[in-house]
Amino acid sequence: MECELCGRSNAGAKAEVEGTLLNVCESCARLGRRIDPIGFGVSEKRPKNVSVSSMNPEFASVIINARKKSGLSLEGLGKRISEKASVLERVEKGMRPTDSLARKLEKALKIKLLGYEED
Ligand SMILES: [Zn+2]
Repeated sequence: MECELCGRSNAGAKAEVEGTLLNVCESCARLGRRIDPIGFGVSEKRPKNVSVSSMNPEFASVIINARKKSGLSLEGLGKRISEKASVLERVEKGMRPTDSLARKLEKALKIKLLGYEED
């Protein structure tokens, strides 16, 4: 596609020039307000914050193993991180902890739950 401004180069960019959306070349794109291709950097991007997908899927067993290794009961662990034992029990049964709870567990049990990357 030819650049709609200079007509010479290959139009590889879109830019808004004086209110009109034009297919322009890279150098002409600088003359207007450059528009990125639709969807680029928006829909496919992973969220920056740690999300559901980056929690270790084995979090329940990781927590149980680490807690037992430390010789802590649910109540003991709960006291240490100021959480209810019933909440911890639910997490150990597979309920995903909130990110802040996960961080507290990571610290108290010296484990890694968040920022998990799948291969
Ligand atoms: Zn051009």
